[in-house]
Amino acid sequence: MVYLDHNATSPPHPAVVDAALPMLTEHWGNPSSSHSLARKPMAAVEEARRSLAEWAGVRPRDVIFTSGATEANNLAVLGISRPGRLYSAVEHPSVVASAAACSGRLIPITSHGTTDLEALEDLLRDASVAMVSVMTANNETGVLQPIGDIHALCQRYGALLHTDAAQAIGRISAPTSWDLLTVTGHKAGGFKGAGALCLRPGIELSARSLGGGQERGRRSGTINPAPIVSLGVVATLSHGPEIARLRDRLEAGCEALGGVVTAKGSPRLGNTCNVRFPGVPSNHVVMGLDLAGICISAGSACHSGAAVASPVLQAMGIDSADAVRLSLGWSSCDADIDAALDALGRVVPAGRELS
Ligand code: PLP
Repeated sequence: MVYLDHNATSPPHPAVVDAALPMLTEHWGNPSSSHSLARKPMAAVEEARRSLAEWAGVRPRDVIFTSGATEANNLAVLGISRPGRLYSAVEHPSVVASAAACSGRLIPITSHGTTDLEALEDLLRDASVAMVSVMTANNETGVLQPIGDIHALCQRYGALLHTDAAQAIGRISAPTSWDLLTVTGHKAGGFKGAGALCLRPGIELSARSLGGGQERGRRSGTINPAPIVSLGVVATLSHGPEIARLRDRLEAGCEALGGVVTAKGSPRLGNTCNVRFPGVPSNHVVMGLDLAGICISAGSACHSGAAVASPVLQAMGIDSADAVRLSLGWSSCDADIDAALDALGRVVPAGRELS
């Protein structure tokens, strides 16, 4: 099995398994209990909080653990009481749905996949906006947004900037200038089931999850040490130049087969290859590679399986019917690229003949 779908989820990294496994086998107590079984899991959770705070550049007390990026995005967008939301046209559905629930307005993006800064400034000038949400790195194209420039604009117009860094953590350093930042662990070697919202000091949020008062009352619910510890380890990982070298090899091979790489000239994550094979339906390529034992995705994982166009590619003016995403990670190697190119060399021409 060759796994090239790390942007959907990633295999647990060995360092993650070593650190987190004892939370399942030995230190399984409830961290909030008052007896001695709580001590080890609570200490491990606080260590993970420090690790994540260091990556994000915030104080540990300003990290709120959640069940993942979806919950953190919901908390960020819905938790600020002042009205007025703007969100980019390439956001994850968890931002889109929560911003739409408070009548948020869309910020257009350019054909390169980056935020249209002039349009953003016009929108900020037009109406009172409490929060702008623009992701750090896109899950489908890997395009990196100019978060520093966007934050400067937001500050000029008195808006907060929320950035969804679910695809950045464990791969690149955190953006330095923002007000609220979302992460999740499972895209870069962590377990599913833990994410966090990191806040600049002084940001007031109303909780969405009410109950036992965990996470300083900002997110009630029993703390889940194993995935939280895994997230703390992910915060110490990063992708070196090796992943980009593999991705570039893959893209050169795709281009040799007539593939057109999406946003090739834009600043991008080094692990993501979104490519169109004109005239070859994306499902043909995904299924053909699956039969060859290679896991890739058509558009984003949330959309594959359902025949819906990718809103991200549509926003860039690209027809997504023949686009596929291959995303690499810590376990990827040259043999994976060889196998993918070999299979694509059979599947793509066959698809062209069929259509
Ligand atoms: N945000 C982005 C950019 C993502 O890629 C994903 C994953 O699909 C999410 C949010 C949701 O993350 P989670 O699975 O942790 O809820």
